[in-house]
Amino acid sequence: MSIPKIIFILPCFNEEEILHDTISKMETVLKGLISQKKIDEDSSIVFVDDGSTDSSWKMISENMTFKPFVKGLKLSRNFGHQLAIFAGMMEMKDSCDAIITLDADLQDDLDVISIMIDKFNKGNEIVYGVPQKRISESFLKRKPAQIYYKLLRLMGVDIVANHADFRLVSKKAAGILSKFKERNIFLRGIFPLMGLKSDKVEYDKAKRIGGKPKYSIFKLCCLAFSGITAFSYTPLRYITFFGFLVTIGSFIYMLYVLIAKTMGHIIPGWTSLILSIYFLGGVQIFFMGIIGEYIARIYSEVKHRPRYIIEENKANG
Ligand code: UDP
Ligand code: MG
Repeated sequence: MSIPKIIFILPCFNEEEILHDTISKMETVLKGLISQKKIDEDSSIVFVDDGSTDSSWKMISENMTFKPFVKGLKLSRNFGHQLAIFAGMMEMKDSCDAIITLDADLQDDLDVISIMIDKFNKGNEIVYGVPQKRISESFLKRKPAQIYYKLLRLMGVDIVANHADFRLVSKKAAGILSKFKERNIFLRGIFPLMGLKSDKVEYDKAKRIGGKPKYSIFKLCCLAFSGITAFSYTPLRYITFFGFLVTIGSFIYMLYVLIAKTMGHIIPGWTSLILSIYFLGGVQIFFMGIIGEYIARIYSEVKHRPRYIIEENKANG
């Protein structure tokens, strides 16, 4: 097997505090792998600037001038982590044998990259990086994440537990990804859907090397919600089921009221009436909200807007 040409894709959003460190660490990794003849000497590192407002793009551009293996893509605004990775993959997929995506804060273990490449050489189209211990994360972030992965699986979404976006993807898998036309992209749900030969590598996730996390709680919740609504119709099924139960329940209640009336009992008062109206009203609005979420997604999908816009492409040609 010939030596594969690998492109590393790192999304960056306001990462000026750590970029210098990241570039030098990635340079060591790249040069090490080239000297071990694990990857082709034309392999490169592509930073996707996801609409940073700090000097991230300036730093990437400067490095490009004297480091030929550093390349950059600048998105016109902040499209979010998933679309930044996606944009990088779509732009670079035809210039390499495989892509490795990882976060710019280098919380993922760079030592397992070489194992990923071995597994790719053995015929795997996708190699998932799976953190074993998330020591770097607080209990409040780790526990909900674990529950979330369990919930996704219960809803029938095929997902590699704990895997985020540190993965190797072959040119073929990236080509298939381009055929997925959805806008609400949840990459870790899409790759298992492809059914290609894949494997995992395990590692311990480290702490951020600097700067603050760029994923706000709100962005994280949006991503989590996309993961459910983009891959599972189970919530809609629960609504139907719940509606059925409520109908049966109300029939039983009706029987009780009729019997109570024929026996001359006093009709239950205000409180219970008002309470039930409010309760059912609340439940209905909540469920209508969920249906609305799906409709909103259909709406955004049918528009077929471009999923990302490249402002400057300093990676190709
Ligand atoms: N990121 C991005 N766009 C965003 C938010 C984050 O490109 O809107 C990048 C960020 O620069 C980093 C990666 O995505 O390289 C992961 O972000 P972060 O480390 O904040 O996430 P966490 O590790 O806390 O999940
Ligand atoms: Mg991080």
